[in-house]
Amino acid sequence: MKFVYLFKEGNASMRNLLGGKGANLAEMTNLGLPIPQGFTVTTDACNDYYKNNKTLSDEVINQVFDALHNLEEIQGKKFGDNSDPLLVSVRSGAPASMPGMMDTILNLGLNDIAVEAFANKTNNPRFAYDSYRRFIQMYSDVVMEVPKSYFEKIIDEVKSIKGVKYDTELTVDDLKELVVRFKNIYKENMNGEEFPQNPNEQLMGAIKAVFRSWDNPRAIVYRRMNEIPSSLGTAVNVQAMVFGNMGNTSGTGVAFTRNPSNGEKGVFGEYLINAQGEDVVAGVRTPQPITKLKEDLPECYEEFVRLATLLENHYKDMQDMEFTIQEGKLYFLQTRNGKRTAPAAIKIACDLVDEGMITKEEALLRIDAKSLDQLLHPTFDKEALNEAKQIGKALPASPGAAAGYVVFNAERAKELGKGGKGDRVVLVRLETTPEDIEGMVASQGILTVRGGMTSHAAVVARGMGTCCVSGCGEIIIDEDKKEFTLGGITYHEGDYISLDGTTGTIYDGDVKTKDATLEGDFGRIMSWADEVRTLGVRANADNPRDTKKALELGAEGIGLCRTEHMFFDEDRIPKIREMILADTKEAREKALDELIPFQKSDFKAMFKVLKGLPLTVRYLDPPLHEFLPKTEDEMIKLANDMNVNLETLKNKCSELHEFNPMMGHRGCRLAITYPEIAVMQTKALIEAAIEIYKEDGVMVEPEIMIPLVGEVKELDFVKKIVVDTAEEIKKNEGVNIKYTIGTMIEIPRACVVADEIAKKAEFFSFGTNDLTQLTYGFSRDDASKFLNSYYDNNILESDPFARIDEVGVGSLVRMAVEKGKSVRPNIKLGICGEHGGDPTSVDFCHRAGLTYVSCSPYRIPIARLSAAQAAIKAKGNK
Ligand code: ADP
Ligand code: MG
Ligand code: MG
Repeated sequence: MKFVYLFKEGNASMRNLLGGKGANLAEMTNLGLPIPQGFTVTTDACNDYYKNNKTLSDEVINQVFDALHNLEEIQGKKFGDNSDPLLVSVRSGAPASMPGMMDTILNLGLNDIAVEAFANKTNNPRFAYDSYRRFIQMYSDVVMEVPKSYFEKIIDEVKSIKGVKYDTELTVDDLKELVVRFKNIYKENMNGEEFPQNPNEQLMGAIKAVFRSWDNPRAIVYRRMNEIPSSLGTAVNVQAMVFGNMGNTSGTGVAFTRNPSNGEKGVFGEYLINAQGEDVVAGVRTPQPITKLKEDLPECYEEFVRLATLLENHYKDMQDMEFTIQEGKLYFLQTRNGKRTAPAAIKIACDLVDEGMITKEEALLRIDAKSLDQLLHPTFDKEALNEAKQIGKALPASPGAAAGYVVFNAERAKELGKGGKGDRVVLVRLETTPEDIEGMVASQGILTVRGGMTSHAAVVARGMGTCCVSGCGEIIIDEDKKEFTLGGITYHEGDYISLDGTTGTIYDGDVKTKDATLEGDFGRIMSWADEVRTLGVRANADNPRDTKKALELGAEGIGLCRTEHMFFDEDRIPKIREMILADTKEAREKALDELIPFQKSDFKAMFKVLKGLPLTVRYLDPPLHEFLPKTEDEMIKLANDMNVNLETLKNKCSELHEFNPMMGHRGCRLAITYPEIAVMQTKALIEAAIEIYKEDGVMVEPEIMIPLVGEVKELDFVKKIVVDTAEEIKKNEGVNIKYTIGTMIEIPRACVVADEIAKKAEFFSFGTNDLTQLTYGFSRDDASKFLNSYYDNNILESDPFARIDEVGVGSLVRMAVEKGKSVRPNIKLGICGEHGGDPTSVDFCHRAGLTYVSCSPYRIPIARLSAAQAAIKAKGNK
C-alpha cells in the first residue's frame, strides 16, 4: 500500500487521500507555481495509525524515509545535517478544511548543533535562534502538550525586562536566552527528559502528533458542527521550509482573491514583514493590508496577484492562499476555496455566473445552505442607530448586528447565552483561541482587542455567521477583573454594548435591531433554487406574524400549525385549565365552548394571511399538565376563578401527574378520552373556513392532522368525530368546505403499519422529533445531558434530533413511505420535525420521495436551497 506521495505525484482530485492541503499543494506543483517541495503522508496512514493502537507501522515509517531522501535530493540539503540542514514543516491537512483545528510545526530538524551551523550559513544568527526557539515552542506544545502559555509568559518577561514591545526587537542574545529557558521548561514538564536532538525522532513525533490531533476535543467539536465524519482521518504534509523571518525583504501573509466578507472582486489580505506563519493568524502583531506590499515589495506583489488570478481561474472559485516571501522570493504555501460569509457567498456565486465561469446549478452548489441563516440575521434599526452613542471602531471581521450584555470568557458565554440561559451576550476577549468555540457559538457577537481580519476570532465568527469586530486596540481590558474601558466608559459583565460587524463600529447600550429581507443577489439565488427543486417547502407557524414572515421568505403554505400554542395566552389558559379540571362532560363542554371564538379567530387570521395556500392544523398534542398552574399564586387564583377549594384543586393537579408525560396522556389520546376537544377544534376550524369564504370569497381546504397515531383505530376514532362535526356544520351553513384528514407519523409502530393507516389517512407528516425520541429511546428534553459523552466516545457524531439518523429513523421513514404509497399512490408526504430545515436531512427527504418539508420560518431559505441542491445532486448521481 502506498502511504506517502511526493507533491509531484498527486493532484487536486486526491483530496480524500491527501487531504485538502496536500492535494492542492500537489495541484499547484503541477501548475508550476513556486511551492517549497515536500510529501504527503496519506489519510490511509492515519487510519492505519489508529488501527495499530496509535503507532506508526514499519511500512509507513520506511515510506516516509524514502520520500525524505527524495526531498533531500530535490533540495540539495540533508535532513539532520550538522552544517547545512534541511528543515521542514509538518502540517496537518484533512480532506475537509478544519482551520486552526490542528497545529503545525515549523523549523523541524533544528537542534543545538545545527542551529549554530544554520546561523553561520545564513549569516543571520538572529534568524537562526528565532527559528529554533519557535520550533522548541511549537514542538513542545503540539507534540508533548506542554502548554503554549508557559513559553509566552517567558517571552513577555524577557520583553518587559528589555523594555521592548515586539518579538522582532529581541536581540540574538535574548533569543539564545529564550532557547535555554524554553528547553528547561520542556525538561521540567517532561520529567527531566531533554528536548529531543535527533531530527528523525522529531519528525516521527510530529507526524504522530498530527494523527493524534485528529481526535482532540476541539477537532471533535468542529467536526460535529460541520458534519465531517471522523472516519476520514487527516493527512500530514512534510514540506521544505522557506523563511519569512529572514529580515525586511521577507514576510508572510494570507490573502483571498475576493473579499470574504462582502464578496467584492480583488485581492484582499494581510501580511507581516519579517515574520513566520502563525504570527499573522495568531493575532500577536496586527498585520498590514496586502496593498501595502505593493509599496514594500512591488515585484512580489505583482507576481502574487498574477498567480492568485491564475489559481482562481483554475479552481473557478474564490481562493484563500497562504504565502511566504524569503528574501524577495515569493512562495505559495497553501490554496483552498475560501471560506466566506453568506453575503459574500451569494455575491461571488452570482458574479461567477455573470462572468461566465460557472453555471447556475454550480452556483447553487457553491453556497452552504446552512449559512443562509446569516442573511436573515438582524441589522440595526436605522433610527435607533442614529441615536446610538459610538464608543469605538475596529476591524469589521464578520458582518451583522449584535446587541447584548458583556461577558469576559467563553464559559460565561456558554452559561448565559444561546443554549444556556438564553440571554443575549457579547463576548469580549483580548483574543480568542480555539478553546473558545463553544462560547462563541453562544454569543450574539464577539469583540476582540487584538487580531486582524484573519485572526482566529474573525475566521471562526465568519464561519458561524456571528457578528465580530476584531483588533480594537483602544480597549483597555482586565480579563481577571472582568472589566474593560472604551470611549471613556468602563463596562462590567452585564452592561450592554452593540456591535456592527459590517462597519466595525462599537456602540454603547442595547441598540435596536431589525430583520432582513430577500433582496438582490439573494433573491436571484432563491429563484434559481426554486427552478430546480422538486420538494415543496412549507413552514411551521401558528400565528399570523410568523406565517407572514414565512411567506415573505418563500414558504408555500403551513405544514404544521400547533394549536396548543394558541391556548397559552393569558385570556385563554384559564379556560383550558377549567376544561382540564372539570369533573363532568358538561362542565368540560362549557369551558371548551368559551374557547371556540378564540380558536376560530386564530384560524381566520391564519387563513387571511395565507390567501388560499394550504394550512395543516395539528389537533391538540401536549400532555395536559403543561397547561396546569405551577406556582401557589396561580393555584389560588384558579381556585377562586373556578369556585373550588384550594386543596381539591391541588389534589386534582397531582392526580394528573405523569411519570412519563412524553409517553403519557397526549396526542390523539386526548381526543380519545375527551372527544369534546376534537369537536371544539373541528367547529372552530370549519366555521373559520366558512366565514372566510363568506367574507373574502376564498375557498380554503384545511388539512386536519391527528397527532401521535400508532394504531389505525385511534385515527378512525378521532376521524369519525371530526367528520361528524364538520358535516353537520356544513349542512347547517350550506357551504361545501372541502377538508382532508391525515396523521402525523411519529411513533415507530405507525411506520410499521403505515399501509393500514394510509387506508384512512389522506396524508402523512413525519414528526421526526418524536419519531427520533421513540426510536432511540432518547428523551428529547434530556438527551443533551448525555449526548456529549456520546460524541466524546465516538458513539454518535451528531445530534439525531438536529440531523436525521438516516440509518435508523430514516429506514422507518422509508418503510412508511413505501407502505403508504402501496395503498394510496398519491399520498401527500411531508416532514414537520426540526429536521425539515436541516440541509442533510432535507437531502434525505428528497431521496426518500417526500412531497414537502416544513420548517420554522427563518429556515425557509435554507430549505429551498437544500432542496435544490438535493435535486441537482440526485440528477448527477443518475
Ligand atoms: P493551518 O492549517 O492552521 O493554516 P498550516 O499548515 O497552513 O496550518 O501552517 C500555518 C502556517 O505555517 C502557514 O500559513 C505558513 O505561513 C507556515 N508554514 C507552513 N509550512 C511552511 C513552510 N514549509 N515554510 C514556511 N512556512 C510554513
Ligand atoms: Mg494554512
Ligand atoms: Mg410530535
